[in-house]
Amino acid sequence: MLIGIPKEIYPGENRVAIIPSGIDALLSAGFDVVVQEGAGDNSHYSDDDYRNCGACIAPNAQSLYDQADIVLKVRQPLDEEVSLLKENSTLVCMLDAWFNLPLIKQLAQRNVRSFALEFIPRTTRAQSMDVLSSMGAISGYRSVLSGAMELPQYFPMLMTAAGTIHPAKVFIVGAGVAGLMAISTARRLGAVVEAYDTRAEVREQVESLGAKFVEFDLPQEEGGAAGGYASEKSEEFYTKQREQMQAKVAQSDLVITTAAIPGKMSPRLITKDMLHYMKKGSVIVDLAAERGGNVEGTIAGHKAYVDGVTIIGYTDHPGRVPVHASQLLTKNITTFLLNMAGEGQLNIDMEDDIVAATLITEAGEIKHEGLKAQAE
Ligand code: NAD
Repeated sequence: MLIGIPKEIYPGENRVAIIPSGIDALLSAGFDVVVQEGAGDNSHYSDDDYRNCGACIAPNAQSLYDQADIVLKVRQPLDEEVSLLKENSTLVCMLDAWFNLPLIKQLAQRNVRSFALEFIPRTTRAQSMDVLSSMGAISGYRSVLSGAMELPQYFPMLMTAAGTIHPAKVFIVGAGVAGLMAISTARRLGAVVEAYDTRAEVREQVESLGAKFVEFDLPQEEGGAAGGYASEKSEEFYTKQREQMQAKVAQSDLVITTAAIPGKMSPRLITKDMLHYMKKGSVIVDLAAERGGNVEGTIAGHKAYVDGVTIIGYTDHPGRVPVHASQLLTKNITTFLLNMAGEGQLNIDMEDDIVAATLITEAGEIKHEGLKAQAE
């Protein structure tokens, strides 16, 4: 079968699904590989790099999609890409499926077999395929750099002849994959870091990275919902959380919010009233911006200025580190694909929990139970 790697056209997307060094694993598994001209440009890999690794180059998207039996992509296809996908071809990418039901219906109608990488289960066997973890870690790292660049002050403590500089105070809300990486990055830059999460089990991880776990008088979750995720809370819980976080937010120079509930809009944890009590010049990086944001005033994809506070709502943090983001995606995607392949063919085994969890459409139908229910 022929694997196609297109150039991403999603606005602002710099990553590529497979970098040149990943081509060999696909060829060794018996596939042929065609890469669209310029697919690696924004992540700094040239067409010659791909050719030297044994891939063919297609001159444009039409030619790539016409040939490809399997399309490996980063982001969900836009309308013009959906119409190029061949009938009975297979698509593997981050579909953002819970929020893209019309696209899922279109893929089913076009007889495309699609897999959503964001549905890969959080199990030990699937760890090397886990795009949410590899991209979440980059978001956590990049959020601190973006925040530090925006902050009109130093991060580390400095004792200079011209006086003493106190370290920046960073407060991180949500200590999952992104939050933990944000903690370690902020610590390396010399900030004093505190963090809070509704899941009790992360306290030890927060402390092991040199940050303080903040106690609030709120019920802590033991174990969370399935897969270690936090569960959705009542509005009463969020009201209490906002009241109790207010003083901590007001004292912080940089706040990074990462609180997400899979498949749901993100909880509102910081209101405009709370921003009013923050110091002028302080910064918030809202990593939940794409799902409505944890912060009132966040504008997805942009910086906003409210009451003297800068709110960074970028939704493309991994795409701002495209070399390593693409390298990690390559490992995630090839491991995922080769788990269901042999001798250049796909063997779709629904007994395999990874395949069953990620298969979204096939043979004209929506296969994923939750999405199927939503579509009816
Ligand atoms: P996520 O992006 O869905 O959420 C980010 C964090 O926000 C989570 O830690 C969550 O508890 C927290 N949060 C949600 N609501 C909150 C609120 N109101 N206030 C404060 N914090 C709130 O999650 P994620 O980082 O992708 O993963 C969550 C967890 O999944 C991990 O920490 C880990 O336990 C588990 N995990 C397991 C594996 C594996 O076993 N292979 C891989 C990755 C993650």
